Amino acid sequence: MTEMSKLDLLEKIRPKWLDVATNRLARGEEMRKSFATQLNHYFSLFEQAITTGDPGWMDSILDEWLEAQTHTDLDRREPGLLPILTNLLITTYDISQDILSDAEAVELIGMAIPVHNYTVDYIHRHEINLKIKYISDELEKAYLTLERLDKSKSNFISVAAHELKTPLTLIEGYIAMLEERLPKDDQDLHHMMLLLNGVNNGTQRLREIVGDMIDVSRIDNDMLSLNYQPIWINRIFTVVYEELKEALKKRDLVYEMREFNGSNEMIYGDPERLYQAFRNLMVNAIKYTPDGGRIIIGGRKLPGFLEITVTDTGIGIDPEDHELIFQKFDRLGDPALHSSGKTKFKGGGPGLGLPIAKGLIEAHQGTIWVESDGHDEINCPGATFHVLLPLLKELPGDMTVKLYRESADKQVLTFNRTTRPIG
Ligand code: ADP
Repeated sequence: MTEMSKLDLLEKIRPKWLDVATNRLARGEEMRKSFATQLNHYFSLFEQAITTGDPGWMDSILDEWLEAQTHTDLDRREPGLLPILTNLLITTYDISQDILSDAEAVELIGMAIPVHNYTVDYIHRHEINLKIKYISDELEKAYLTLERLDKSKSNFISVAAHELKTPLTLIEGYIAMLEERLPKDDQDLHHMMLLLNGVNNGTQRLREIVGDMIDVSRIDNDMLSLNYQPIWINRIFTVVYEELKEALKKRDLVYEMREFNGSNEMIYGDPERLYQAFRNLMVNAIKYTPDGGRIIIGGRKLPGFLEITVTDTGIGIDPEDHELIFQKFDRLGDPALHSSGKTKFKGGGPGLGLPIAKGLIEAHQGTIWVESDGHDEINCPGATFHVLLPLLKELPGDMTVKLYRESADKQVLTFNRTTRPIG
């Protein structure tokens, strides 16, 4: 058969072939349009392959189709391209029988089968390669996740051990002193009270660290339940300030609460949890600002939200760490430098303060992020932590909440707090 008559046969079946193949393969109007263009291209290459006797003409469109297969297809173990190719061969078969004479149909199918076999073989080889690549990518990902898990596990152990060691050493020291000073006379009794106070501080710090660990696991496991009550942002900061004012004084830090539109407005939130989140931000502002610096609380009212900012004039945070610091135990720096004191300059801690603040704010459907030009212990560029809280004017309906109907004016954050040791 001449090249020309091969082409004639193919052109004869082309319109109907396109129509039927498109309908068989694509559902929906939009899909059909894009499929029709693809199949038109496929058929032209198919013609080239048959008239020249070189099935390699099919490579470009097969590559295109292979490339269009996504990871999602592989994830879902979609059947791949082979059923499509078989469908196209059957269409060629059906349409040839329909339109051509028997002899012409046998002729055309005889030419189509080798091209089809070529495409099946091509796709088969490449799909296997794709699957191998996909599986090795998945393995690589799983390996990286395991490696990261392992790293954070050992990081956790190292940080937890250091954090618990300091208060333990403290307790041991005071107990040893107590033993030496078992009261022999009345003056020793007074001394003993002081030592007991030291033991108390140590155990309270331990309790606080353990409490933080429990909070982190609650947040991680979505087990945090909020106790929504009427709150006022400025009153929460008053309580935070009252607790930290000694530390601020000791570190010669100026504290400024800049009232803003909304800071004295009643909204709903969990006072204890918000207090905890803002306290963590304040403790950090104190810890990472050198003596003599400033800490400013500000904010603004936005449509549907209150934005609260905690700004310090401290050592700042590198932009590349702005997200990292909110991940648990991913605190920057060396764990060995930790726990020199809760509010001492660069005092360190278990690296749970920000992850907990983030968890608590997000439980309120809020957001938290930091802005800082960078980390510089000489020039102190400072940092601003932003908290966006929904301006809740009513109790959220779908949560189990307890509302203390105390008179709004009297509400001065009546939640139970154990006084925490400072410094
Ligand atoms: P840590 O117990 O280490 O203070 P946090 O979760 O509270 O843990 O903070 C994580 C890290 O973020 C800190 O180790 C510190 O490097 C950095 N950081 C947090 N707040 C500030 C701040 N106001 N200024 C500079 N660095 C900060």
